[in-house]
Amino acid sequence: MTTEIAHHIGGARSAGQSTRQQDVTNPATGAVTGRVRLGSAADVDAAVAAAQAAFPAWSEVPPIRRARVMFKFLELVNQHKDELARAITLEHGKVFTDAQGEVARGIDIIEFACGMPQLLKGDFTDQVSTGMDNWTIRQPLGVVAGITPFNFPVMVPMWMFPMAIAAGNTFVLKPSPIDPTPSLMMADLLKQAGLPDGVFNVVQGDKEAVDALLVHPDVKAVSFVGSTPIANYIYETGAHHGKRVQALGGAKNHMVVMPDADLDQAVDALIGAAYGSAGERCMAISVAVLVGDVANKIIPKLVDRTQQLQVLDGMNLAAEMGPIVTEAARQRITGYIEAGQAEGARLLVDGRGFDGAKAGDGCANGFWLGGTLFDHVTPDMKIYQEEIFGPVLSCVRVPDFATAVQLINAHEFGNGTSCFTRDGNVAREFARRIQVGMVGINVPIPVPMAWQGFGGWKKSLFGDMHAYGEEGVRFYTKQKSIMQRWPESIGKGAEFVMPTAK
Ligand code: NAD
Repeated sequence: MTTEIAHHIGGARSAGQSTRQQDVTNPATGAVTGRVRLGSAADVDAAVAAAQAAFPAWSEVPPIRRARVMFKFLELVNQHKDELARAITLEHGKVFTDAQGEVARGIDIIEFACGMPQLLKGDFTDQVSTGMDNWTIRQPLGVVAGITPFNFPVMVPMWMFPMAIAAGNTFVLKPSPIDPTPSLMMADLLKQAGLPDGVFNVVQGDKEAVDALLVHPDVKAVSFVGSTPIANYIYETGAHHGKRVQALGGAKNHMVVMPDADLDQAVDALIGAAYGSAGERCMAISVAVLVGDVANKIIPKLVDRTQQLQVLDGMNLAAEMGPIVTEAARQRITGYIEAGQAEGARLLVDGRGFDGAKAGDGCANGFWLGGTLFDHVTPDMKIYQEEIFGPVLSCVRVPDFATAVQLINAHEFGNGTSCFTRDGNVAREFARRIQVGMVGINVPIPVPMAWQGFGGWKKSLFGDMHAYGEEGVRFYTKQKSIMQRWPESIGKGAEFVMPTAK
């Protein structure tokens, strides 16, 4: 039995006009579970038209009443959070408890968006000139679009639409066609929460739908999360067509382990951050930077722990790591492992031989790979330079802290990084000197909280503003400044000089 996965336009499911479709698979078994529609420019037109029609009324709804819809949505997401998590696991493959964590981090953003009336407050200056006041307000942009990756089908859309909608915009989501089902579940929960039809729309699809959104004159802003080449393309094309764009890209996150660190804690952190979600996280640690004599002490422990990873069907609660999202991704990662060997890195644990049949009933044909560990990786190697986006941890040995910092700063990505140490000064220097957007001190995956905002540096983000937090509010609104006086304070005669305070 396969499910037809359609669009959600103007408050209702729509098969759309395009007949193109793509298989949706359960990565644990390899079975096709659904067929998702791939929208055309005409389908994008229909969704944008629905959003455009809904905008005038929605933007006039007082922020407190928009926030009440978000509060209701929050309640419904909490009620249905395990169903959402299950849907994630069945199409993405990540383990169920990790999927629950994903939903929980999305809920954080909805909670933050519930405070939108406070966040939209402007500034007021009394008496900028005699009898004259000046204040600012923030107004919504109109129709805004979100284009999201496969690896967080609930959390990443929730970085965007709760903020955008609570601020008074209407929204078109173009989710990844690899795991599209949660997008429709979220659409249904928003409708149940009382969101007017057309305020939130989903167009399923691929490049064709994305390209139509990027050139559509009624789309005022685009939020994108995905790989760096596509982020770059989205930024340039969207900006060329007059849109505000934030495009978050790929990553190569380093974790430095200093000789004074608690090495058992560092091993736990590396194993969880490298292999959690099979390394398919933009904040996954893919490079361990081992300073001084740390490598000789922790490599045997890393080997042992990598070999003992519980690689199982994600619905098995004992699972630590599930399958890879698609067969194509599995082959891409396998290619990187071959490249690492060919370039002379030392392959200590090879995940390629992993037998899917051991992962659970019916898993023999799933997209399986075990945890993989390389030592003696150097900066000239492809496995060091490129994002692998799989369960592959590369260890780089460096003599000292300064070399570790230099190494990280020279990398083209700058999403997240971490330093494990007991030395307060090293920690402080690391946080201040590192050219990376999100930094953890003894925290391997420093994903900022809802009110702080998320974003990398360098090729990990194109645009000026980070996702969610107060930067998210600024992204989804434009500032207007108003100056006002009343006839009693207006002097006589035309003024030909630049007005100044009187
Ligand atoms: P992707 O770039 O392949 O796809 C992202 C989105 O772009 C999807 O909706 C996809 O349908 C669309 N897309 C793909 N190819 C396109 C093209 N040629 N033209 C227009 N649109 C296109 O990314 P993915 O594989 O779904 O996700 C994994 C990537 O996302 C990794 O690189 C990861 O680091 C990154 N990511 C980054 C963050 C972050 O916050 N920086 C968060 C999550 C994921």
